Formats: sequence, structure tokens, C-alpha cells
Amino acid sequence: MAFSQFAKILVRNSLRPLASKNYSSSPIPNGYNFELNDTQRDFQETARKFAREEVLPVAAEYDKTGNYPWDIFKKAHQLGLVNTHIPEEFGGLETGVFDGCLVIEEIAYACTGVATALEATSLGQTPVLIAGNKEQKKKYLGRLIDEPLVAAYGVTEPGAGSDVNGLKTRAEKKGDEYVLNGQKMWITGGGVANWYFVLARTNPDPKCPASKAFTGFIVERDWPGVTPGRKEINMGQRASDTRGITFEDVRIPKENVLISEGEGFKIAMMTFDKTRPPVAASAVGLAQRCLDEASKYALERKTFGTSIINHQAVAFMLADMAIGIETGRLAWMKAAWETDNGLRNSYSAAIAKGWAADMANKCATDAVQIFGGNGFNSEYPVEKLMRDAKIFQIYEGTSQIQRLIISRHLADRAKTLI
Ligand SMILES: Cc1cc2nc3c(=O)[nH]c(=O)nc-3n(C[C@H](O)[C@H](O)[C@H](O)COP(=O)(O)OP(=O)(O)OC[C@H]3O[C@@H](n4cnc5c(N)ncnc54)[C@H](O)[C@@H]3O)c2cc1C
Repeated sequence: MAFSQFAKILVRNSLRPLASKNYSSSPIPNGYNFELNDTQRDFQETARKFAREEVLPVAAEYDKTGNYPWDIFKKAHQLGLVNTHIPEEFGGLETGVFDGCLVIEEIAYACTGVATALEATSLGQTPVLIAGNKEQKKKYLGRLIDEPLVAAYGVTEPGAGSDVNGLKTRAEKKGDEYVLNGQKMWITGGGVANWYFVLARTNPDPKCPASKAFTGFIVERDWPGVTPGRKEINMGQRASDTRGITFEDVRIPKENVLISEGEGFKIAMMTFDKTRPPVAASAVGLAQRCLDEASKYALERKTFGTSIINHQAVAFMLADMAIGIETGRLAWMKAAWETDNGLRNSYSAAIAKGWAADMANKCATDAVQIFGGNGFNSEYPVEKLMRDAKIFQIYEGTSQIQRLIISRHLADRAKTLI
């Protein structure tokens, strides 16, 4: 879609148009700066308006039905709120990770189930953004711009999540093709995606190091032998589609290999440096919603002749939430800024994701506490927030795996101190 059409849609929806310039966060010449630039503010305001008007009112319904939020996805696609990172030459806005995080924090405030549904297509695209050649980008990223289609990221399997080296899905080279066999599990967007990034073992030698044993492929949903399983019924974020996928003798042309054979593990891991900051931003969005809901309730609810916000035990829970949210936001901002500026951010992305996930869970638990009995009931919003929060400690690397990454970094650093 041409950008002028974008602008018309935005105006029609009384949303402020996003300028057609590059939104990537630029290096700040004067050092630290805590202000968004004008285009980033536009981006944030557009996303906030969209989240409050289009997502928040229907969040409870999507949670109840578990339907995939196609209506929301299509509107977000028209507004340019998905696919933001796709380069301009393939029709995208070419934003940095930072600007994408601004959007996702706003959408997550309204519903993290919807936010995950939207963000997962970014996760699926990122290996292609990082490692795709021009033809692959044009074909597969361009397709996502032309139509509201979804990409998905297929690494985890029934037998291996944290331990990627344990993946069993196999791709065997036969002539100009690879033949893929195996099973993936917990794939967000697995049932709705048009294509998948799939990580498969291409070197059968168990002694081959992970850094050489795996290859990343682009696999189309419609190819013979690709079968998504049933939609999983999860504790929270139910608007998001999660499924297993079976691959049976799927023939992949060699043109769909990312970089070359043996490069897949690196691509899959580098992806997380770009996608963990948005997961952290999403957790911060949920936590902010917890704080806002709990603050309003604490002002209205009275016990012992006064609003419960006047009881220090309640007020301090709110203060602790604010401390967690403010630091979580700074953490995702730093991690996103680093990767946008070409700095290795695995450490800061792990800190942001690890902190924001745990903090969001604490905020959600405390919000339920502040609501008392009402908090335990699905008529009030915080029950859903608590269910939705849990997954932040599991997907895109569990909270333990984030600590593993951080502690390895610390061990390397310690060696330089001796
Ligand atoms: C809703 C949902 C959506 C998801 N979306 C996707 C997706 O789109 N694509 C995709 O590829 N995957 C996806 N996943 C998979 C997710 O990333 C994995 O579930 C996660 O990485 C954990 O892997 P696992 O479930 O196999 O747990 P395991 O790896 O078996 O871990 C079990 C427990 O052991 C702990 N543990 C494991 N190893 C260590 C260690 N070395 N040190 C300390 N503790 C350890 C873990 O932290 C965890 O608490 C999704 C999962 C869910 C539930």
C-alpha cells in the first residue's frame, strides 16, 4: 500500500498520520536523553489511541472466546502499526526496535493477548530481517506489507525449549531441496501464519556444536506436509494463537535457506536481541495497566471510613508498582536503543526481559490484592491481567534463562577483573 493511502486511512480514523520518514531512533549526539522525538511521540499517540479505542473495549471478549483478533490485526495493518521494522524498499516504515516497543507497550496496556498476536509476526519476520537476502525479503516481507498476513517463529519442540541444542526436527539435503521432518510446539500464530521461520538440524552428528548443526528456513504454510495442530487453551493471553506444527516430508527449495546451511542457531539467537525488548515493553504495558486499575480502585474503595489508598499498606503497594514500571521502562528503552545503534545488547535485553516479566507478575498479583475479593472475579479487569502476566516469565526465554545469560556475561566480566 502506498504511504498516501496510509495517511488517508489514518485521517479517516481520526488518527494522526505517521510521516513517511524513517522512524529509526537516531543516535543522540549529546549523550543521555529521556525525551521522545516528534515522530516517536506521533507513533506512541497513534498506538495509544488505537489501543484504547479499538483493543481495550473488546479485550475481555477475545479472552473469553479465544478467537484470533483478525479485525484488530487488519486495522493495525492498515495503520502501519504492524510490520514497522520492514525496510522502506520493501514497503515498510523501517522503524528501529525502540519505536516498535513504543507501539507494543501501548497495545499491551489494552490487552497483552492482542499485543502478543501482533508482536509474534515481528518475531517471525526478524530472522528474515537479520539474515534474509534481497529476494527473500522482497518475497516474504513484501507479502506481509501487501496483505494482512502473519509470520511465525518456529523453534520450540515438544521435547526442547530452553535447550535449543536438543531440537529433533531434521532437514536433509536432497538435490536442490531440503526435506523437513519433525514437530514444533507452542508456536505463536502457528494456525494463522502464512509462513514460518523454522529452525531444523541439518548436521546429524550429535557432536556437532549447535553453532554449526542447525539451519534456518522459510517454510510456507500451504506447502504439502505442513500441518498445524489444534489451538492450545492457555492460562492467559487467549487472543493469541498457539499451536504445535507437524512437518512431514516438507520439500523446501534451497532458495529458502537463510544465509547458508549451519547458520540457523546464530540467526535464532540474534533474533532475541531484537525481540526481547518488545516483550519487556509489553510486560511494562501490562504492569502500567495494573497500576492504573489498582490506583482508581484504591481511590474509590472505602474501608474504616476512608479510601483504601490512604492506608499506607495499600499506598506502598502502588508505590512499589510505580518503581517497577519506571525501571522496567528504562530497561527496555536501553536494550532497544543499544540494538538500534548497532551495539550488542544480549545482556541488557536479558535484564529488561527478566525484570519486566517478574515485575509485571508482581504488579498483577498486587493489583488483585488491592481489589480484594473483587480482584479474584472475572467481572473485574485484574483477574485477566494476572493470568496474562504469567507467560512473560516463560516465552522468549524463561526468567531462569535470562539469568543464565546475565550470569554468563558476569562470569566473562569477572575474568577481566582478576
Ligand atoms: C504461549 C506460548 C507461546 C510461545 N510462543 C513461541 C513461539 O512463537 N515460538 C517458539 O519457538 N516458541 C514459543 N514458545 C515456547 C517457549 O519459548 C518455551 O516454552 C520456553 O522457551 C521454555 O521451554 P520449555 O517449555 O521447553 O521449558 P523447559 O526448557 O523444559 O524448562 C522447564 C523449566 O526448567 C527451567 N530451566 C531449563 N533449563 C534451565 C537451566 N539451564 N537453568 C535453570 N533453569 C532451567 C526453565 O526456566 C523452566 O522453568 C511459546 C510458549 C508458550 C507457552
